[in-house]
Amino acid sequence: MQLNPKKTKTYIKSALRDQHLKEAVDRATQSALKKRQDKVDLMPYWEDMRWQAHKAKAGVIDHLDRYLEEFEANCMANGTTVHWAVDGEEARKIIIDLIRKNNVKSIVKAKSLTTEEIYLNHFLVDQGLEVLETDLGEYIVQLLDQIPSHLTSPALHLTRKDVGKIFHEKLGVPYTEDPPELAQIARQKLREKFLAADMGISGVNFAIADSGSFCIVENEANAHLAVTMPRIHVAVMGIEKIVPTLPATAAFLKLQAISTTGQKQSSYVNFVGGPTRQKFGEGCEEVHLVLLDNGRSTILADPQLRETLFCFRCGACLNNCPIYQQVGGHAYGWVYMGPIGISLLPQYLGVDEGRYAPFTSSLCGACYEICPMRINIPHHLLKLRNRVVDSGYSMKVEKWAMWGFGFLASRPWLYRLLTWFPGKFQKLMPGNRAFPAPGYGKERALGRMDLKGFRKRFKEMS
Ligand code: SF4
Repeated sequence: MQLNPKKTKTYIKSALRDQHLKEAVDRATQSALKKRQDKVDLMPYWEDMRWQAHKAKAGVIDHLDRYLEEFEANCMANGTTVHWAVDGEEARKIIIDLIRKNNVKSIVKAKSLTTEEIYLNHFLVDQGLEVLETDLGEYIVQLLDQIPSHLTSPALHLTRKDVGKIFHEKLGVPYTEDPPELAQIARQKLREKFLAADMGISGVNFAIADSGSFCIVENEANAHLAVTMPRIHVAVMGIEKIVPTLPATAAFLKLQAISTTGQKQSSYVNFVGGPTRQKFGEGCEEVHLVLLDNGRSTILADPQLRETLFCFRCGACLNNCPIYQQVGGHAYGWVYMGPIGISLLPQYLGVDEGRYAPFTSSLCGACYEICPMRINIPHHLLKLRNRVVDSGYSMKVEKWAMWGFGFLASRPWLYRLLTWFPGKFQKLMPGNRAFPAPGYGKERALGRMDLKGFRKRFKEMS
């Protein structure tokens, strides 16, 4: 399923009509938020950790060129082959060349949003290859030919009943909605594929500059199998994933685990430090690392929005976002969704394709409040809105509305008259009905207007 960010209005409308989706997303996000909060409450130093991580990441991003060179040199010293890809097309070409050169027929994948970003699965399948997602959530959405609906919980929009039906229909197994039984079914289907695969493809959570190793964080051990059982391991990472040292990585791992799943620590943290089969008799014979730019260096060059590169895709801002909670991830029409997704979309895909994205936010600040990296997403969204408008994409009605507001605001007598009128009109409305607002008022209740008004209150206060 390929989504189109330009169709986001259509997706949002259809998501708002889908009660089943709302219930599934609401249940999953509320449970994730509670688990996270329970852990945060046990950590009086949580706020300090967030600011320290923010500072550390700022230091890396400000000198990314130097850290990338250090990382590359150490990777090569470890025996990892490093490839640089300026965009998705180049990354796909690097990978297909490796596949052809090594006569690869079947591939197992560990969850990777970066590979989703470059549409790798569809590309490889179109080349006649067998590509299997091995993370349980990814496996489920792959069976449905969907993209993930959350950064860390790909099948968050589905209930266990849905999964039972999907397995029954797609895999021909008897219906069950028991989670351990469902996991067992997936495990049996996947295990033989791990053994037969020629290549494992993964993403990278953190790349450690001073050791030339990188880590892959997971909870199911599927990534461990995917990167150690096949002969060749290809990892795809965005160039912003660098951290300076191993001790610095520990703080990021903790912040990420708590923010993602409310765990003190993720169940498995795999460190990959090059090919190991010859030396230890296990692991890969070849490790290839594709360093993907795909628009990141443009963001890096932008001091106003550079902070968006601090994101390590924990998904907490999605869980806490009142918009995401209503519509889920597919409504955004792109692989990165929620508050961070709509800040990245116009930066990665350009203002034309991403012009609606920065407006799909209430700017309530819930994302900034929860982000473990302290990324000021509402601030970035405002900047992006400015850019969309400066590029000439604002709606005519909006332009007129702004012009009208300027006209009124500079004529206090007219402003007073027109703000007096709706208050009187509201008095005529029966019972306790809220002020009617077409469209907007359909999905939420607007409160009654305060008849006293700001100017009267201000006078009273001063
Ligand atoms: S913006 Fe912050 S909260 Fe959202 S996914 Fe990135 S790190 Fe997590």
